[in-house]
This record gives sequence, structure tokens and C-alpha cells, in this order.
Amino acid sequence: MLRAASGSTSVGHPGPRRDPHCPSVVPVPSPGTTSATLLLNATYEPLCVVSSRRAIVLVLAQKAEPVDSAADVVHAERVSLPVPVVVRLTRYVRVPYPASVPLSRRAVFTRDGQTCVYCGGSATSIDHVVPRSRGGTHTWDNVVAACRRCNHTKADRSLAEMGWALPHPPRTPSGAAWRLLGTRTVDPRWRDWLGVPESVSA
Ligand SMILES: [Zn+2]
Repeated sequence: MLRAASGSTSVGHPGPRRDPHCPSVVPVPSPGTTSATLLLNATYEPLCVVSSRRAIVLVLAQKAEPVDSAADVVHAERVSLPVPVVVRLTRYVRVPYPASVPLSRRAVFTRDGQTCVYCGGSATSIDHVVPRSRGGTHTWDNVVAACRRCNHTKADRSLAEMGWALPHPPRTPSGAAWRLLGTRTVDPRWRDWLGVPESVSA
């Protein structure tokens, strides 16, 4: 018979309490499932995009609830749940808004519906309404989405010289959804929560 060398009274324990066969508390979404989940504030305001894994952890911890889910099911410890596409925090978090939406090619294309503001064709480039060579600024109110042909035709001339007009003045986008819209690909299933028109694709 073996004795505990230390003389400790805590005999009979086989070793560390950690059981290597214990299922992970962080489930792993199966291959092919969505990898990104839209996270909404408790007020349904879009906050950010998290990994589906992170979203599942939030749901299991009851810090978030599923709003929209995929058909795929992930199996976690003693529970199975559909992979969340959109989740909503159960408690409101206050988020400081950025002072302005960063000006990027993707953001301009999204604001202008991926179409050329001059001809309505598919946008492939960015045009400065007042050409930079004439002092035009690289700012939201002077940058528009344009097709290459219009951009090339206009070159460094003004709209007045071209006899062209804008359908509406270019504006700086605002609103919570722009934290996402200008910076990343948007899952079509998030559209309802971002207020994105059907015509705007990622
Ligand atoms: Zn055009």
C-alpha cells in the first residue's frame, strides 16, 4: 500500500482537478458556419462585429441574446444553439461616438450606393468634385463615387465647366451603423439592423 509522502491528509485525489476530457466552455463553431456576428446594444443600436465564437460565449454567459441566427447549430457544454448572426446585449453599454466617420473608399462607395453619382453606372473610382489641382479638399463634402469613364472625362475640370450636376450634395455620413459600414464587409443578414438599403451591397 502506498502512502502519501508528505503525510498530507488529502489522500485519494487522483491529481489536478482539471479534467482533460471536460468539454471546453468555449465552443468551436463547425466549419462552414458564419464567422462574424453583429453585436447590438440593448437598445438595438449596432455596436460592432465580433467573432461568432465570441457571440456564443456572450449568449452562454447570458450577457447577450440571439436576435437572428443561422441554420447551423453549434454544440457546447450540455447545450446546442444556432450560430448567432445578430446578438443583442442584455445590458446597455455607453459607447463614445467617433467625432467623424473616417473617409475611405469603401465608405464613400457605401454612402453613394456603389454607383457613379454622375451617370448612375457602377462606381469604380473616387472623384473629387472640385479637383484637387484646383484646391478641392479630400473631405466628405468634396468626394464622390464615380465610374472610371466619368472620372476620366471630367478630369480636372469643374462641374460647371462640364455642365454636370450632382443629384444631391455629398454629405458626411452619421449614425451608429457607420461604425461598421465604412470599414468592413457587411453580411446581408445584418442589413435590417444597420438601416442599409437593399441597393447597397458589401
Ligand atoms: Zn459615371
